[in-house]
Amino acid sequence: MTIEILQPGKLLDTCEAALAQRYTVHKLYEQPDPAAWLKANGSRIRAVAGGNVDAGLLTQLPNLEIIANFGVGYDNIDTKAAKAANIRVTNTPDVLNDAVAELAIGLMIALGRRIVVADKFVRAGKWPGNNFGLSAELTGKTVGILGLGRIGKEIAARAQALKMRVVYYGRGRQPSVPHIYYDNLVDMARDSDWLVIVAPGGKSTQGIVSRDVLEALGPEGRLVNVARGTLVDQPAMVELLVNGGLAGAALDVFDGEPEVPAELMDLDNVVLSPHHASATRQTRDAMGAMLVANLDAHFAGEPLLSQVV
Ligand code: NDP
Repeated sequence: MTIEILQPGKLLDTCEAALAQRYTVHKLYEQPDPAAWLKANGSRIRAVAGGNVDAGLLTQLPNLEIIANFGVGYDNIDTKAAKAANIRVTNTPDVLNDAVAELAIGLMIALGRRIVVADKFVRAGKWPGNNFGLSAELTGKTVGILGLGRIGKEIAARAQALKMRVVYYGRGRQPSVPHIYYDNLVDMARDSDWLVIVAPGGKSTQGIVSRDVLEALGPEGRLVNVARGTLVDQPAMVELLVNGGLAGAALDVFDGEPEVPAELMDLDNVVLSPHHASATRQTRDAMGAMLVANLDAHFAGEPLLSQVV
């Protein structure tokens, strides 16, 4: 008898194929009445692959052993409830570092050098007879990284290659890191031309990039968020972008996504991106493989590759 697992949402084709080879997969999102399905079948489910898992769902899966998340961030899972129910949780760290760092740097160059605006300018036939104006170079500028972890360090290395000065903020100084450490985010923002957010979402970082932080970054400062929209006071950010209190923002994530504040749509000092920092073929394949490997390890009684609970 094969092991029955639940897939709450769509996954990458390669990941779904690998799961189907090993397990009996139930796609909750394809059920006409998911609540009724869970009531009738939830007790047979031993693992969840990807998707959002709240405490309500957990109560319907009384024999659940493991949740294998597709992604390094796991703020989509109620880890407290999982821990209380003795359910293991895994994520997919490291394999996505390069892809996310690459997009962060890409967003910075796009925003600073006005690449999106320039493209629109040329396509609209405005080049003849008009001066496009100037843009902001990254070279020699200071980038403050909020969350100098696995991805943050890859961003730092790339920023240094662009001749930027790197400073960072986190809950503690990292002794093996050569960059200047700030124990106060407002102070770091004041010292930064660019503030790059790449710390985890969830309650502990909710609104950490407050109005005070954004005002310290100031009218010459630019914000980049490749973490989670919840870290930023989004209304304050929008207001400052509209009234010139911030020079610009490049955003891969939003509070309440996929909804994006309407005010941002018409701003030229904003680059918008649909939460796709890790979405390259090679990285998504590697994330899927890691999700499957964690499940395989669990059911083989072997150590998990990346356990967070
Ligand atoms: P890591 O855990 O390696 O690094 C996170 C960093 O954030 C650490 O340096 C940590 O430093 C810091 N941090 C953690 N909690 C706090 C806090 N409360 N206050 C301040 N700093 C904090 O994570 P990754 O680099 O692997 O990933 C970071 C995040 O990026 C993920 O959680 C995810 O949400 C996001 N992400 C977004 C993607 C996208 O598609 N846009 C793709 C992949 C990831 P310290 O411990 O010193 O505080």
